[in-house]
This record gives sequence, structure tokens and C-alpha cells, in this order.
Amino acid sequence: MNEQQEIAQLREELERANYEYYVLDQPTMSDFAFDRKLRRLEELEAAHPELATPDSPTRRVGGKAAEGFEEVVHRMPLESLQDVFSLEELEEFDQRVRESVEGAVYDVEPKVDGLSVALEYENGVFVRGATRGDGRVGEDVTENLRTIRSIPMRLPEALPRLIVRGEVFMPRSVFARLNEERELRGQPLFANPRNAAAGSLRQLDPKIAAQRRLDILVFNIQYVEGKTFTEHVETLDYLKSQRFRVIPHTICGSIAQCGGRIRAIGDGREEFDFDIDGAVIKVNSLSDRETLGSTAKFPRWAAAYKYPPEQKPSRVLDIVVQVGRTGVLTPKAVVEPVRLAGTTVTNATLHNQDFITEKDVRVGDTVLVQKAGEIIPEIVSVLKERRPEGTTPYFLPGRCPVCGSPVVRDEDGAALRCTGAECPAQLLRHLVHFASRDAMDIEGLGPAAVENLVSAGLLKAPGDLYHLRAEDVEPLDRMGKKSAENLIAAIDKSRQNDLSRLLFAFGIRQVGQKAAQVLARQFGSLDALAEAGAEALTAVPDIGAITAESLTAWFRDPQSRHLIETLKEAGVNMESRAQPVGDQLAGLTFVLTGELTAFTRKEAGERIQALGGKVSGSVSKKTSYVVAGESAGSKLRKAQELGVPVLDETAFQALLEGKRQG
Ligand code: AMP
Repeated sequence: MNEQQEIAQLREELERANYEYYVLDQPTMSDFAFDRKLRRLEELEAAHPELATPDSPTRRVGGKAAEGFEEVVHRMPLESLQDVFSLEELEEFDQRVRESVEGAVYDVEPKVDGLSVALEYENGVFVRGATRGDGRVGEDVTENLRTIRSIPMRLPEALPRLIVRGEVFMPRSVFARLNEERELRGQPLFANPRNAAAGSLRQLDPKIAAQRRLDILVFNIQYVEGKTFTEHVETLDYLKSQRFRVIPHTICGSIAQCGGRIRAIGDGREEFDFDIDGAVIKVNSLSDRETLGSTAKFPRWAAAYKYPPEQKPSRVLDIVVQVGRTGVLTPKAVVEPVRLAGTTVTNATLHNQDFITEKDVRVGDTVLVQKAGEIIPEIVSVLKERRPEGTTPYFLPGRCPVCGSPVVRDEDGAALRCTGAECPAQLLRHLVHFASRDAMDIEGLGPAAVENLVSAGLLKAPGDLYHLRAEDVEPLDRMGKKSAENLIAAIDKSRQNDLSRLLFAFGIRQVGQKAAQVLARQFGSLDALAEAGAEALTAVPDIGAITAESLTAWFRDPQSRHLIETLKEAGVNMESRAQPVGDQLAGLTFVLTGELTAFTRKEAGERIQALGGKVSGSVSKKTSYVVAGESAGSKLRKAQELGVPVLDETAFQALLEGKRQG
């Protein structure tokens, strides 16, 4: 076999393995064999660039990032669907159909809540994929679609042209994992799988799209050359034979049967690994579809049934509080079990204290529970007339239910957050932050490694890091001798970090990187900082009352003191190496204007602050000096009017240096 043949064979084997794994859910090739074959194919393609093709399985990991997306004019418009909201409206739809065609038979399918795309094949090869856009013009997202393993890159039958429509979605399980990772990294969360799928499909970097593990269900042939069909289900069967992942579908002979099927889809929605926002009912006969035609917006032969949000009364048995990985306290109502939208509901989210207060939800109340599209049920209202005697308003606890540390309200929202430095609920996040680049900068200790160590039971608090031994770490997944040794060395090195890094690594609320630097320089050691009262803290430039309060509360908490002790014992440096702040310019306020030559405005400001002076943006009688560089304007005039002393650049430098000597 020559290399060209080997390439062809590897591609066929890998694509078949993809199909078995992602579409049929019946893998026959081991991950190991798959990876080895893929590596071999990559090598061969690298050695023979002339034999590389875009439909190769090697392209599924994501190619080069794009600048933007090209527009694609759809050959057949991607129409939208008319909505029906009740069984009566469904019957009316059926009536309208029957006015034009006889004996209509329908196909009923779940309506996947994702993003509509068109996939185009030329001679059996995937050549282009586009989003729906406005239905007429969409965006070319071919490279991102290649990363979706359930989209075949080459079809068993090479028709001259085939355009298939489907819905791209993010499986719920993937969505949950993605948001968990984002939370750990402090990135904003996606609101729902649909948004996450949209964000991923429109990623300019296909490598990121590839990591998102999107999936697709196809439900229509938009256009075909070289083949004719008479029924919709026949097209779906054909698509299945061509290795597509096809929407689940059921043929129904009457509209009553459709209603039953629609209800069954709604009741069984929890079993799908994708969100649905309804069910679609479609005329099965393709010639009937032609007779019925389309309005300007949608086909007359199909309708989308939207499930009404189901609501039922239930009683609040208890209110429990959970602590998330970021320390946010989330209250949940435990309710008497009720059946809603196909599942038994036993609890409902209460969001936060503001929500509870606004609705005045109390233990013992009868409430209306609703389940709409989302997975977590919510409380719509309290049936006050059914409130028993003796209930009291509910307030979230002032201390964390997991670790007992005080909780604080987020400065920018309604969330309450635990401040415990060693709170077990937040352990992962604390460790990830502790090790991150701007904090202790421990190489090799990213979110995955932290999770690995925590689930192996090796870390219970940040202090445990400094007791890890290479031989404990080595047996872990994806570790090995070399990386274990490197990790321990990186942890060891972090013992020498400057105090400013350690201070930032503690993750004290309000104490970001900048504040940590200022504080470390000002106080010189962690002990001195811990002893500083609110007054000494607020005297530091840039440190306000809220930060000071957050710091003193943090140092007061026994958990923080325990953490500091363990780190001290482990030999972690707690001193600052930065130049202490001078006080030569203390009490003086400077205004900078015009252009300086020796430093930028920012640098000049920093020099002043380093010597204890303040910088202000506007001139007043209280201004001590105006520093005027080249082409100074109105501020200089104002200084002259008010009699404020003006320094040129040379005099300013002399002041900085002169004072320093003196
Ligand atoms: P709408 O946007 O509400 O008008 O609904 C039309 C959208 O539903 C289309 O963009 C389709 O992509 C999507 N959809 C999801 N599942 C299906 C399905 N099984 N059949 C037809 N359309 C579907």
C-alpha cells in the first residue's frame, strides 16, 4: 500500500469511527487506536501537503482563526415556522391544511432549541455550512461546523448536490461542564445551552469551537440533485443512511394522534440531552407540501407547537441554602412533590434574598410553581390566602452554612457570598485563584490539575499545597514523574513570592492586584497589615473604607488566621520587597498639565504617589503645585489666577530628587 492509499484508508476508518461514536453511540474503535491513527494521518498529511483535503478528519480539531464570517446567500431560504399555542390552534392548523389537501398525514418531531444551519455537499463532500441569518443570507461557519463530529465530511453516496438543514445545539451535559469551568476561571456564565451554542458556533477561532463539543440533529433536505423523494420520512431515512444524526420522528395519521405525540414529547423532554422549545408538526407528503406552499414568512404545511409553561400549587416545606463554588449562597425552596412538565418537582429556586423579600416566600406557604423551558422550576407567586398562622418572613443566614464564616453582599448585585478563606465549598475556586498567574503564579497548576488533586483528596485547603510530595502526585491521571516533579518545584518556588502576590492570592473581596501591591508596599509585612486598623488602612492612597472593612473582617476570621499560620509554617514569604512608600510629599496635592519629556503623565503620577503625594485632575486653592509641561493650557492659567505655585519639568524633577536627598 502506498502512502496515498494509506491516507485514504485512514480517513475512511477514522470517519467511520467518528460516526459510530457520535451518531450511532456504538463505538468499536478504542480511543487509543483512534488517537494513534489520527496522529499517523497527521504525519502523512504533513509529509504530503498536496494530499491534504478539507474533509479530512484531521481538520475536525479546528483550523486557523478567521477575521470574520463571509456572507452566504441560501439557495433555498431557511424559513421560520408558524406557532400554535394550544390543541385548538393545532386543530385549526389541521383544518386549514385539509382545505387544500386530502387525507394529510403528519410527522411530529421535537423542536430542538439551538441554531439553524444549512450544510451543503458537492459530490458527496461537505463544502459549506451556514447559519440561518435572516433566512435568506447567513454566515459561513464551515470551519466551525467541521469540528462537530456528528456532521459527516463525506457521504456514502456522492450526489452532485445536497443541502441539508439541521439544528446545532450544545448537549446539556456539555453545557453544565462548560459553565462549571467558566465559573472556576471567573468567566461570565452562559445563560442557557442555546446561548452557549450560538457563542460557540460564531467563534472566530475554530479551535475553541472544537472544544465546545457541539452536536447537531438534521431534520430536512433543503435541496437535492440526482434523487427524488415523495415523502418527508423517506428523506429522513435517506439522511440516516448517509450517516447523519437525524431528528427523532413519528408519523401520525390524525391530528388527535399528533396531539398525543406532542404531549409525549413534552412529558419526556427531560430524557433528551438537548433543550426543546416545542414540537414541530409537518405534512409528510412532499407533493402536498407543494400544493400548500408558503406565506411570505413560513410554510403552510408545518407548525411549531409551543408548550405552555405548566404551573401547579405546592407547599413550601423548608428553605435550604447551598453554597456554590464561587461562594454565592443560593436559597432553594423544598416543596411537596408535584408533577410538572413530565418530571416530579421537589424544589424550586428562590434566586436570592431580594426575590424572597419581594414575593415574601415563607416556610409553610402554598406557592404556584412553574416549569417553562428551563430546567429548574421557579416560584411564580405565593397564594397568600392560604398562608397558615404563625409564619415569619425568611432571611438568609448571616454566616455560611458550610463553614460558618460571615457572608457579605456583593457590591454590584443581590448575591450574598461567603468570605471563608478555607471554606470547603469554595476550595476549588480558591486554589485556582491562589495558583493563577497574577497571584502565586504556580506553573502547571491550572483548573484541571487542581481538580485532579482535590478529587484525589490531596488538598483540603490552600496550605496543603506546600506539603505535597512528588510521589503523592505522580500516580494521578495525566501526571507522570516529570510533571509531578515540575509541579512540586513550581510550588516550592512560589514560597519566595513577594507579599503582594500572596495578598492577592488570598482572594479577599475588594483586594485586587493593584490594591495588594499598594498595601504590601505600604505595610511591608503581612503581620503589620493584619494589625493595621481601619484608620491606618484608609490613610493609604487608593484604599477606601469598603476595602478597609473587607480587610479587617478577613483578618478577624479564624479561618484566615489558620490559613496564614499554615502558610507561615510552610515557609511562605510574608514580607514585601518593594520600596517602602516615602512620606516626603505627604500632604501635598499635585495637578499635572501639558506634556512632560522625561516621563509619561502616568509615571509622573506614580512617582508622586510613591513619595506620599496626591494627584488631582483639577486646580483649586488647595492644590499645592501645578506641574506644567510643554503646551500647558487652561490648568496653567487657572493656577496663575489662584496663585498656586507652578513647577516646570526641571523644577519638578528637582523636587522629586531634592526631597529624596533631604
Ligand atoms: P422559529 O424560529 O420559532 O420560527 O422556529 C423555526 C426554527 O425551528 C427553525 O429555525 C428550525 O431550525 C428550528 N427547528 C428545530 N427543530 C426543528 C424541527 N424538528 N423541524 C423544523 N424546524 C426545527
